[in-house]
Amino acid sequence: MRYVECHKCGLNYPITQVRARTVEVESGRSSGAMAYKGWGSSGSWTGSTKKYNKTGGGLAYYGGRTYYRNVKVYVCGPCLAAEARARARARAASAKRWRIFWSIIFVGGVVLWLM
Ligand SMILES: [Zn+2]
Repeated sequence: MRYVECHKCGLNYPITQVRARTVEVESGRSSGAMAYKGWGSSGSWTGSTKKYNKTGGGLAYYGGRTYYRNVKVYVCGPCLAAEARARARARAASAKRWRIFWSIIFVGGVVLWLM
């Protein structure tokens, strides 16, 4: 029997009792760079707006980009159940927020109607 570590709780479970999933993890970041954009004499047509965008010259800073990679992990049954419970709770909380929102609208409407 092969045992794997749960991604959430770190406990070891037999592979038959876990579920595989892929998660995106940050695998690195390229450093930003200063680049010379030219004198600002060039430009380009933007297709959607039919506008000619003159590019400004000078120096521009290009931020480094973050790289992600997909990693296969395993999540155990109890953690999956806990996730499902958390999701259900979040859904219920969101429904409650909307009920409060609509009742405020309703009360506001009644107040306006009475005035
Ligand atoms: Zn777990």
